[in-house]
Amino acid sequence: MTWTARVRSVRPLGPHFTRVELGGPGLRSFRTLGTGDEAVTLYFPRPGESAPPPMTVVDGVRGYHGLASAPVGRNYTVRAATDGVMTIDFARHGDGVASTWAERAKPGDGLVIWRQRSWYHPPAGTDWIVLAADATGLPAIARILEQHDSRTPITVLTDFPGALGDLSPRLAGLARSPDGVAARGRDRGVGGLLDQIRDFAPPAGRGYAWFAGECADARRARTLWRDVHGLARDQVASVGYWRAEAADWERRYATVRTEIERLYQDCVDAGESIEDAGELVEAELERRGL
Ligand SMILES: Cc1cc2nc3c(=O)[nH]c(=O)nc-3n(C[C@H](O)[C@H](O)[C@H](O)COP(=O)(O)OP(=O)(O)OC[C@H]3O[C@@H](n4cnc5c(N)ncnc54)[C@H](O)[C@@H]3O)c2cc1C
Repeated sequence: MTWTARVRSVRPLGPHFTRVELGGPGLRSFRTLGTGDEAVTLYFPRPGESAPPPMTVVDGVRGYHGLASAPVGRNYTVRAATDGVMTIDFARHGDGVASTWAERAKPGDGLVIWRQRSWYHPPAGTDWIVLAADATGLPAIARILEQHDSRTPITVLTDFPGALGDLSPRLAGLARSPDGVAARGRDRGVGGLLDQIRDFAPPAGRGYAWFAGECADARRARTLWRDVHGLARDQVASVGYWRAEAADWERRYATVRTEIERLYQDCVDAGESIEDAGELVEAELERRGL
């Protein structure tokens, strides 16, 4: 299923984010998964277009087939979705198709939306939750916190603690919140987020840790939660949201793509879970310096 959307409004949210509200008739059939870190892939207009073309289905496969240049797709958190209106909060990070589009977007501009999914699923019996993210994961953290309806305490670790208040005024005073939710952080610094995870003192009971940020950091965060803090696989969701030096990585990945995809498929065909297959791929990529 894909959806088309038109920009309704664009506005800055503090120094780090731009909020884009999407609507239009093509979005009326969108039904949210309801999960706090629900994400979709947004496809952006190509140069000279105000909206990307629709996808086509060839041999049962949906996608952009047979185009000289396919629209670029990027993943974004569904910050909110109600009554045919979807909100997306874009972190401003400089050059990039998505980041630049958000800065220049105006009412009426079009997008194509595809692939809903989510990772945040604390198992029943979780006693405490910790959410750690750089700027790209803060929209998801804001939605998770807004939707949190149990007494399970949540701690937020981030390099941008003040930005949560930009995303949601309700979250501005987190540290003083009476229900156990607390935000901690420090000014942005190299490795700061991972240091916070390493230094985290887990409360008693069964925990659940969610991470979103740079891909190599996501790998390191998973290792810290598992090896240093002793969390089991179903107690950790660590998701790579963006990749440093992305173009260089893509170039190097292209040389091993076929092998890596075969490794993943063989693992799934052998009956392993997609989580196990994903971890095997991660380990292989790390071994190859990717
Ligand atoms: C499930 C999921 C949900 C996400 N949700 C959000 C969200 O709600 N809001 C949001 O802002 N982002 C979100 N992201 C991250 C976003 O998809 C990436 O940052 C994406 O690369 C941005 O695309 P771009 O076209 O602007 O830059 P790209 O063309 O991908 O990259 C251009 C250059 O910028 C660098 N770059 C990319 N992103 C960043 C960054 N954040 N900081 C610094 N450098 C960067 C790359 O290394 C590259 O060198 C999410 C990612 C995933 C996987």
